[in-house]
Amino acid sequence: MHAPMTQFTVAGRHLQVGGVPVSQLVARVGKTPFYAYDRRMIADRIAQLRAVLPTPIRLHYAIKANPMPAVVQYLSGLGDGLDVASLQEMNTALDTGMPGNHISFSGPGKTDVELKGAVASGVIVNLESEGEMERIARLGEQLSIRPLVSIRINPDFELKYSGMQMGGSAKVFGVDLERLPEMANRAAQLDLDLLGFHIFNGSQNLRAEAIVDAQNRTFCLIDTLLEQVSCKLRWLNIGGGFGIPYFPGESHLKVEPIATNLASLLDHYPWAKKTEIVLELGRYLVGEAGIYICRVVDKKVSRGVTYLVTDGGMHHNLAASGNLGQVIRKNYPVVAVEKMGESPLEEVTIVGPLCTPLDVIAHQVQLPRMGTGDLIGVLQSGAYGYSASPTAFLGHPPAGEILV
Ligand SMILES: *Cc1c(COP(=O)(O)O)cnc(C)c1O
Repeated sequence: MHAPMTQFTVAGRHLQVGGVPVSQLVARVGKTPFYAYDRRMIADRIAQLRAVLPTPIRLHYAIKANPMPAVVQYLSGLGDGLDVASLQEMNTALDTGMPGNHISFSGPGKTDVELKGAVASGVIVNLESEGEMERIARLGEQLSIRPLVSIRINPDFELKYSGMQMGGSAKVFGVDLERLPEMANRAAQLDLDLLGFHIFNGSQNLRAEAIVDAQNRTFCLIDTLLEQVSCKLRWLNIGGGFGIPYFPGESHLKVEPIATNLASLLDHYPWAKKTEIVLELGRYLVGEAGIYICRVVDKKVSRGVTYLVTDGGMHHNLAASGNLGQVIRKNYPVVAVEKMGESPLEEVTIVGPLCTPLDVIAHQVQLPRMGTGDLIGVLQSGAYGYSASPTAFLGHPPAGEILV
């Protein structure tokens, strides 16, 4: 069973996004498939977080989760900053009017062009290596601008139960903790403005206690580090990792214990009161606000299995097909958007139009009886959806994208 997905309202038999029935949204877009994102849900998420988190905690949006410019623009007005991972994302972020020093730029392999763009815009660069530090110092000299930097730390612990681990052992992300003191000294020699540090351990975590544990270790690690390095800490990005339920058996993350623990960490460490502490969230802010709508093009039965073949599939929503890092394929929640709550149910396998058996949207699910022309919605599609999909694969038309 999937966790209850009640984020969208239902009127009669019709699912609504942003209070508008999906069939009306089809008319607005003029085609299927498309993604629709509900702005009220995004705003509610931020408001819920703000209500429980200690006030000094800054909320950043990691825009790779959903880089649609309208979404980024909207979130720029709700959050405190944006996190980017490429020059294009950086420019999407700057276009919103967000000041450069509220934008941070992470990711391995930043080119000189990217680093120069960041320095010129006053964006905080999360250094991923010593080499990157040497290059940004040179580029800063060329531009006569003192680069704002933070060092991303590859810690000596892992975020437990995370969907994707990004710390603890040999990693391309960040600099090994034991090399930090030397690197911070070098940053001072190079006259870089070292604001602080960044630790991001992993993603898609649904267990509050694991996130609490990682945050405790992060604060403890920084406390020890501050005894060894000459850095007046002004900025600390503690990552995020907040997950959303995608698959049967998963439930919503409880944020209250995380918020309570953060409040006591702020109390406990004197330096924390003088530091801007950033929580960077991607999917938690937008994932549940998005739905991918596609239309049944064909219905066929093969050896007892009823297939609904749709115009949408893995070329637009790779993650829902299970091909974006899933080891064992599981179903995203799917709904019959114009037949909500209708019976009888029928067991169907929903597939896309691509000539590959990998193009599965939902395997053996119970849905109201549907046929050609009916609309299907894939929930939990607001993050790592369209921009994380191989849109050119097989040359089908692009999907629409709207913010409602
Ligand atoms: C991708 C990424 C995020 C966002 O991850 P989510 O799982 O979407 O919250 C945050 N920080 C960094 C550094 C990232 O690379």
